[in-house]
Amino acid sequence: MYDVIVIGARCAGSPTAMLLARKGYRVLLVDKATFPSNTMSNHYLQQSAVAQLKRWGLLDKVVNSGCPPIQKATFDFFGSIVFTARALPLEGTAEGYCPRRTVLDKILVDAAVEAGVELQERFVVQELCRDGEQVTGIRGRLGDGRSVTEKARIVIGADGMNSFVARSCNALEYNTKPSITSYHYSYWSGVPVDGGELYFRDRRLIIAASTNDNLTCITVVLPIEEFRAFRSNVKENFWAALDLVPQLAKRLRAGKREEPFYGTGNLPNFFRKPYGDGWALVGDAGCHRDPTLAQGIKSAFLSSELLVNAIDQGLSGYRPLNEALADYERQRNEALIPLYELVCQRASSLKAKTLSPEEIQFLAALQGNQKEIDRFWGVEAGTVAVQDFFSPQAIQQIIESSNPSLITV
Ligand SMILES: Cc1cc2nc3c(=O)[nH]c(=O)nc-3n(C[C@H](O)[C@H](O)[C@H](O)COP(=O)(O)OP(=O)(O)OC[C@H]3O[C@@H](n4cnc5c(N)ncnc54)[C@H](O)[C@@H]3O)c2cc1C
Repeated sequence: MYDVIVIGARCAGSPTAMLLARKGYRVLLVDKATFPSNTMSNHYLQQSAVAQLKRWGLLDKVVNSGCPPIQKATFDFFGSIVFTARALPLEGTAEGYCPRRTVLDKILVDAAVEAGVELQERFVVQELCRDGEQVTGIRGRLGDGRSVTEKARIVIGADGMNSFVARSCNALEYNTKPSITSYHYSYWSGVPVDGGELYFRDRRLIIAASTNDNLTCITVVLPIEEFRAFRSNVKENFWAALDLVPQLAKRLRAGKREEPFYGTGNLPNFFRKPYGDGWALVGDAGCHRDPTLAQGIKSAFLSSELLVNAIDQGLSGYRPLNEALADYERQRNEALIPLYELVCQRASSLKAKTLSPEEIQFLAALQGNQKEIDRFWGVEAGTVAVQDFFSPQAIQQIIESSNPSLITV
């Protein structure tokens, strides 16, 4: 009998298992995958996620993997408004990283094992065990075909957006919005990038960021409505998007694409009630949003810490578990909803061919105001609160304090 079983061993599951084991709980972590292995992601780690890795004692492992730090990001809106934001310090770190998931997830899973977690790879969970309404364990199949049953005081679904646990427990979905964008990306060698580069062009967002092995991840984001047409010839359409930014396309043509194109249009937006009798959800299983603004890993880390505190309070007898889990849901939502709404809004704005007059006024006003440019990026990084930066008063202040001679639109 375990204290906790965690299903899914990536950004949400491994930290949850690790933190619980560090508190002395007996934890089983299962995943149908083996590690290291890849999963669909552009894998950019926002600064607040980097700060969490540092707190957990794992940042050095990411740095030592050879993944270059990202200390600035250049935003280029239609070639007419361009500015470079610098990372604001947070808990002694002033950089993001873009480690491959083969690297990051392996670091996380190894840290869980090092903390005393029992890891079972190639374990497909097929059923939840129950005693009445109470979830009491899991039944599944091992890689060699054997069926296994394991019991625990609580079962955590860290099993991604298509969560088996959420489905089995009929977890209520709310704040739901259908897919807004679709993503395609690949990796180039010979294309050095200094910081992140983000180009907004004609219903496309093109992103460049350096990752492990001297590779650069190049992503093309487009409205979901164009997904099918884009899929009909990914290579040609990818290059057509890149040609909207001739200076980047030229650099890429001088480099070499090292991997296939990866892509998806299955990017729903939802929150799920993340707990019930004997079960809880964390990471994408509990909240999924469009990858625009790269909030997934950061949110998974953050909700892991919140969930671990709640479970610790419940299992230690400090207070009833379901009461602590209700607080987990409240704290998670308070932390995630403002950025969730911003993500959906930004992703939707890609549907327009150009910026709205209000967007032009605001972004143009930012030009030359380095402090506010840095804070603009800080909202995504988790160093500046959405509510502080995008309040009507704050926006008005930025516009009023802008230098009209610098407005180039
Ligand atoms: C195109 C794209 C780009 C993205 N870019 C970024 C980015 O730049 N930055 C960022 O922060 N986020 C990004 N994200 C989001 C990020 O990848 C996710 O938020 C993150 O992977 C969530 O981690 P997770 O652990 O919750 O779930 P997952 O990574 O989905 O892991 C779930 C795990 O559960 C296992 N599992 C599922 N079902 C079972 C079962 N029945 N039995 C056993 N195991 C099971 C799976 O094998 C898997 O390993 C992107 C996502 C996409 C799709």
